[in-house]
Amino acid sequence: MVGENGTYDVVIIGAGVVGCAIARELSRYELKIGVLEKEPDVGFGTSCRNSGVVHSGINYKPGTRRAVLDVRGNSMMDKICSELKTPIKRIGKLTVALSENDLPGLYKQRDQGLANGVPGMELLDNEAMQKIQPGIEGILGLWTPSSGIISPYGLTIALAENAHTNGVDFCLEHRVDGIKRNEAKNIFEVEASDLSDGGRKKFFRARVLINSAGLHSDEVSRMAGVGGGVIWACRGEYYVLDKRLDGSLKTLIYPVPGPNDPGLGIHLTPTVDGNILIGPSASYIPDEDREDYRATAKIMQSLRMEGQRLLPGLASGDFIRNFSGNRPKQTPPEVGGNADFTIEETESPGFIHLQGIESPGLTSSPAIAVEVRGIVERRLEMKKRTNFIAERRGFVGHFSHLPREARMDMIHAEPEYGEIICRCEGVTKKEIRDAIENPLGARTLMSIKYRARAMMGRCQGGFCIPRITRMLRDEYGYAPEDYRFRGGGAYMFTGVVRRRGASE
Ligand SMILES: Cc1cc2nc3c(=O)[nH]c(=O)nc-3n(C[C@H](O)[C@H](O)[C@H](O)COP(=O)(O)OP(=O)(O)OC[C@H]3O[C@@H](n4cnc5c(N)ncnc54)[C@H](O)[C@@H]3O)c2cc1C
Repeated sequence: MVGENGTYDVVIIGAGVVGCAIARELSRYELKIGVLEKEPDVGFGTSCRNSGVVHSGINYKPGTRRAVLDVRGNSMMDKICSELKTPIKRIGKLTVALSENDLPGLYKQRDQGLANGVPGMELLDNEAMQKIQPGIEGILGLWTPSSGIISPYGLTIALAENAHTNGVDFCLEHRVDGIKRNEAKNIFEVEASDLSDGGRKKFFRARVLINSAGLHSDEVSRMAGVGGGVIWACRGEYYVLDKRLDGSLKTLIYPVPGPNDPGLGIHLTPTVDGNILIGPSASYIPDEDREDYRATAKIMQSLRMEGQRLLPGLASGDFIRNFSGNRPKQTPPEVGGNADFTIEETESPGFIHLQGIESPGLTSSPAIAVEVRGIVERRLEMKKRTNFIAERRGFVGHFSHLPREARMDMIHAEPEYGEIICRCEGVTKKEIRDAIENPLGARTLMSIKYRARAMMGRCQGGFCIPRITRMLRDEYGYAPEDYRFRGGGAYMFTGVVRRRGASE
């Protein structure tokens, strides 16, 4: 992390998947780049709270940025995931018309797909759909083989860590509070609060400032005195199903969305880790709740019913947890639907404003980064670095997924691979240690969870949290008040209630 008064060519506000993709893209050039993120880790906003789907491009109006960047981002994803050693599965998607009423909407998606250049689309009758997903209901389906799934937090972390390897500074827990343009020096002066240090003020200077602040991008633009628009948050709630059901869903199955639906409809999504998600719902929430990620009883009830309808045989015990993510919408509730992405240099030269990056922002992130790089090129001289490292180094997969012989070799070389800390997911002590010692210096339990997959299984950390917290205490010197589950005030312990060796 940089100290006070960091001076950069480019400062990026927000370390979601989009900010991190931009950071990595710009790190190919000889530029000094800093990322300011208010949370204690990257990807803690919308980027870890979504379906993880690589969309094909059938959903968006031809000619819009969303359509173009979605198809382009989709086509870039295999290479990026391979370079960054993060999983991608091209499992395809069926958008299913359940009745004649859905057919106009389905044909519209097909026509949009054709105009947007979506490869390999086919209309399938029920018999053909059965071959892809036995038991599926519906009269006609649109098959898009380029749809897939990725790990949204895995990709965000990988982009950030690779950008960091290539020289980008990540200033976590730095909330941007003010922006001034110094006309005489032609730079931006950015005021941030260091939340890891009681809110101490820090100042950063940048020749180019990129606002990638997601749900708060309108506020950040207002700080800079540029127009921008207004964000309305629209919550999507999910249920996560147990891995027991892994393999029961061969592909993504979506309903045909209505013309003004704020989302793509409730669907079943397999994750790259073997769980299934049911959701997301779509409900606008009050402005002051933009980051309120609660799951509500009423919607959970409806998701349970929907899940049991779509996957007969689903037991209550299969619903292992819930979560939600909030869409940064540019359209108010009375309008619904979706506005196009805003990606532009504003009237303040060098201030690049990204707003309304809702779905398919995850899919589009690499293409958005290239588009932003094009805007930066107008302001700065960009010379390619000869020593850019595209590949993520070291072992970043899951030890338990390796063949037995490879595991034995690794245990031989590093005995901590032989000690299981998370029983549900088979995560070893070495993997936990690597997650704790991550290059960005993120230290919450969630940071370990997203990197190592510990705490993600059926018991949701009941077995491994005590072991991980003990490791942090004994080997990293954590005091009770140092433990945070996520960010802000999510402290895990209030203090010591009983000392080791005490007689009672
Ligand atoms: C329910 C749901 C489902 C979705 N499903 C999909 C999908 O399947 N496929 C797909 O392609 N897309 C999907 N999306 C969209 C995708 O998740 C987003 O487009 C993407 O994550 C946006 O990334 P981002 O970096 O712009 O925003 P974010 O991830 O929100 O990052 C913005 C960052 O800015 C930080 N920040 C804000 N204000 C400040 C400040 N003042 N100072 C410092 N930092 C600040 C925040 O803390 C945050 O980390 C979905 C979205 C939702 C909500």
